[in-house]
Amino acid sequence: MTGFEGKSIAHSFFDDRANSMHHVFPPHPQTTLSVRDSEALFPVRRIFCVGRNYAEHAREMGATAQADGLEPPFFFTKPGDALVGGAGELAVAYPPLTANLHHEVEMVVALGAGGANIAVDDALGLVFGYGVGLDLTRRDIQAKAKEKGHPWDMGKGFDQSAVCSSLVPAARIGHPAHGRIWLKVNGAIRQDGDLGQMGWKVADIIANLSTMVRLEAGDLIYTGTPAGVGPLLRGDLLEAGVDGVGCLTARIV
Ligand code: MN
Repeated sequence: MTGFEGKSIAHSFFDDRANSMHHVFPPHPQTTLSVRDSEALFPVRRIFCVGRNYAEHAREMGATAQADGLEPPFFFTKPGDALVGGAGELAVAYPPLTANLHHEVEMVVALGAGGANIAVDDALGLVFGYGVGLDLTRRDIQAKAKEKGHPWDMGKGFDQSAVCSSLVPAARIGHPAHGRIWLKVNGAIRQDGDLGQMGWKVADIIANLSTMVRLEAGDLIYTGTPAGVGPLLRGDLLEAGVDGVGCLTARIV
């Protein structure tokens, strides 16, 4: 390297700092979700998911019911940029390293405000809106992790593992606590439950999660899946819906 090249690099570095543009490469684009009947986009921050929030699904996954009732909720996360979202037929890539990709239809809560240690009575006030989502799961990798006591991340948080419809604002639909939540694969019903079967309700979930992390506007919370999860194949067409919220269509490619 000549002295001239070194000086040139140092000079451009100095110029960038003067312009407050100090990134070593361009920042990743902001992940967003469309909002139904609106031009405005919802900027996505983090993705939290509740595990085993419907008793029937917990049983199908092999959990045994506790005699003293509901266990505390537990959470896992997916990267914000694992999201595939919006209106129309969404294309979702079949992920690598699995022979057992599962669908889990879930109601998605989108936060428009945040906070820590939120009271249950204040929790719904943070909600911007709701969507219909899929918590896609590499069930074979998750099962192996469970068996070994390893983290679930690679079973749950892979690329394109979080699918979500356009959001609909709570200002328009309120806060759905009852209503059918369903999923069809190639026209055949696979999951058919009701939001009323959720063990932990939306307000409880937000309040509990906010004791563990400070929630922020842009955070999404997947609220758990009813029974009937099962495998997907390349080419499958998924249609899902939550009464009062909307519908989602996705193709596994
Ligand atoms: Mn789930």
